[in-house]
Amino acid sequence: MSSRKNSSLSLADAVPFNRPCMMGNEIKYMAECVKRGHASGDGVFTERCQEFIENNFQASKVLLTTSCTSALEMAALLCDVDSSSEVILPSYTFVSTANAFLLRGARLRFVDICEDTLNIDPKQIKDAVTDKSKVIVPVHYAGVGCDMDEINLIADQHGLDVIEDAAQGVNSQYKGRSLGTIGRLGTFSFHETKNFICGEGGALLINDEALIEKAEIIREKGTNRSQFFRGEVDKYTWVELGSSFLPSDILAAFLYAQLENMDRITRQREHIYNLYLELLGPLAERGILRLPIIPEGRTSNYHMLYIITEDAQVQQGLLKQLNERGVNAVFHYVPLHTSPMGESLGYRKGMLPVTEDLSARLIRLPFYFELDDGSIHRIAGEINAYFDGV
Ligand SMILES: *Cc1c(COP(=O)(O)O)cnc(C)c1O
Repeated sequence: MSSRKNSSLSLADAVPFNRPCMMGNEIKYMAECVKRGHASGDGVFTERCQEFIENNFQASKVLLTTSCTSALEMAALLCDVDSSSEVILPSYTFVSTANAFLLRGARLRFVDICEDTLNIDPKQIKDAVTDKSKVIVPVHYAGVGCDMDEINLIADQHGLDVIEDAAQGVNSQYKGRSLGTIGRLGTFSFHETKNFICGEGGALLINDEALIEKAEIIREKGTNRSQFFRGEVDKYTWVELGSSFLPSDILAAFLYAQLENMDRITRQREHIYNLYLELLGPLAERGILRLPIIPEGRTSNYHMLYIITEDAQVQQGLLKQLNERGVNAVFHYVPLHTSPMGESLGYRKGMLPVTEDLSARLIRLPFYFELDDGSIHRIAGEINAYFDGV
């Protein structure tokens, strides 16, 4: 590659991959929460966040959790996943999608993804169904919905539950329905790397009324505390297996300040996304890299901007050069089936060719609310410079 004058950038000049931001009322609401004398879970701000999500996404029942990881763990408990169960999920995902079910002793059936969206491939799900199958876990990668009609059809035919990992899909839609509200259960993340944040946080969306009471119990350490506070039972006691899955109301207060700015955050992310597309479009037109694809009937929440390079060598070379020049682009995921844990479960390289191919070619570019146009121009400029003369 050509040598550059500005190859020794100071750290201060580096564009980080992510930067958490505040929308204005975070500190005020957190202080208000403590002054009210209720800093533990299920206070006023938890209620406000849950109502906000229920109203804006037409979700029937929402419970805030400490993370998307814990919402997935609750979902596994709610669907009675145990050591006799098989769970069908993509290998191209974050570890929590798998751990939640492995913790219940389930057998994981990793399947391949679609070329266009990098979402779980319904054809592969069909082939993986056995008489032990219990749950399908579609992961809405980059905030673009999976083929939910096909997935729900397969689930209905075989009596399986669908648990949507919508960690990245908050405020995205599939055929007019919000991601997270389409399966029997859905999970959101409010981790600092997601669109709406509170540091660590999540939500469980319960789309089957029959599971609401059990979900409240599991989330409250296996007690009927929620029913007790509503006056539905006269004693509060241990009734089921459970854990502590509810976040402090202080974190809910922070989150509410973000949720009330949902449109503003989304519009800004849309602007960042479109500027990247505009500046990288010419490289895509020349076939040098591929940009994200959003199929008909699906909307994006502009969670991330990834590019797909021609091969692994270009991915590694471009990543190295971007990082050397102060652009903290990253790679993800090591496919779960080729990770040390995946291999210990009997998986091997070569089993899921699309996942292995695309994960070795994908790069995520810096993407956060405060990323300014100048930085985006600089990042796109560095990418164009890498391919100069190609
Ligand atoms: C971020 C993420 C999670 C985990 O979310 P936490 O809130 O950090 O637990 C799970 N699944 C996917 C697909 C994610 O992107």
